[in-house]
Amino acid sequence: MTNVANQPGNGVWGTPLSADSKRLLLLGSGELGREVALEAIRLGIEVIAVDAYANAPAMQVAHRSHVLSMLDGRALRHVIEQEHPDLIVPEVEALATETLIELEAEGWSIIPTALATRLTMDREGIRRLAAEELGLPTSPYQFAATEPEYQAAIAAIGLPCVVKPVMSSSGKGQSLVKTAADVDAAWTYAFEAGRGKDPRVIVEGFVEFDTEITLLTIRSHPQLSGSKTTTHFCPPIGHRQEAGDYRESWQPCALNSTTLEKCQHIAKAITDALGGVGLFGVELFIAGGPNKKQTVYFSEVSPRPHDTGMVTMVSQNMSEFELHVRAISGLPIGEIEQIRPGASAVILASEISNSPTFTGVAEALTVPSSKLRLFGKPRAHKNRRMGVALALGSTVEEARTRASDCASKVAVH
Ligand code: AMP
Repeated sequence: MTNVANQPGNGVWGTPLSADSKRLLLLGSGELGREVALEAIRLGIEVIAVDAYANAPAMQVAHRSHVLSMLDGRALRHVIEQEHPDLIVPEVEALATETLIELEAEGWSIIPTALATRLTMDREGIRRLAAEELGLPTSPYQFAATEPEYQAAIAAIGLPCVVKPVMSSSGKGQSLVKTAADVDAAWTYAFEAGRGKDPRVIVEGFVEFDTEITLLTIRSHPQLSGSKTTTHFCPPIGHRQEAGDYRESWQPCALNSTTLEKCQHIAKAITDALGGVGLFGVELFIAGGPNKKQTVYFSEVSPRPHDTGMVTMVSQNMSEFELHVRAISGLPIGEIEQIRPGASAVILASEISNSPTFTGVAEALTVPSSKLRLFGKPRAHKNRRMGVALALGSTVEEARTRASDCASKVAVH
């Protein structure tokens, strides 16, 4: 097996569906995976999409697909041995990460590394690495597995605090606990929503941040032999979240140079610790007010493209997806250019549907400099992200207004 993630991309690059094809297996086939698949296909890579349900967005554009539980280690191993991918590219956190560690030891290329997938699978691994091993600034936190531990964690952290299942995404199970009256409901909600076998929660001190950003950080192979892995940064992306899930993002997010340096320092430290190559979404909170010395807190990192980074599909010369595919394929990154201020705004479903339909698409696209991505998800449920509106403007404010206008005209039924 060729371990293409561990060498610059000058090896065999056969045509898709031939014996020499370069094969990329996506673990998770949502909207971010779909864009990774499209970028890989543009470079003549054969794409195999995997997810737990049929007709997932990336499956609709891949060469082949498989439906299986990616938390089932045997099923995961089986599909990898059957497909023989050069690159195994996770798109989600909920994976049989112990199996990925075994497979990596056997020579398979896990992006960025199997250890990174294990550490970012739950909030505990990555939080302990960032705060306890690397000494990066984070909110105060405690973990709890039982109700008495939870009560003790609340007492130790104090109010307000944020309670989240250790394994969850998109704000599922997350609550802001403002007063003592919210404490019990937050436990029940987190406990019931937690995915995986580990029903633990994290209690985090609430950070009164001014801005939260995603710093897209790319680790790529050096193009000259003997030099070290290179780190590249995209301009910072600002975003707004509701109920723990992203609603809009914009690029650039204006930061002073000292704060930007702190952000880049944290992003480099955490991505170096995770290792491998690829694009990472480093989530940071910036507090302290515009005129004061600002503090930057590490919040989370995705070892893969980030939902708030979808704005780069319009705002940069290369999207986060193209950058990811280039980095993992050993190709040069080149110069990352911001074209104009850009923004994204999400399109959410309002109810359950087994055959969602969209109205208002034509009207939405009358908004100047706007584009739409409808993800083609076969089913909708309340607040499920079904699409995203993207827009450019002469200022970030104009781009945000346009993206929000465009998104608001599309209705999901
Ligand atoms: P997460 O799933 O941890 O990324 O949390 C989702 C969102 O909730 C973040 O992007 C923040 O907007 C908010 N949030 C999470 N943790 C905290 C915290 N400790 N303090 C303030 N806001 C938070």
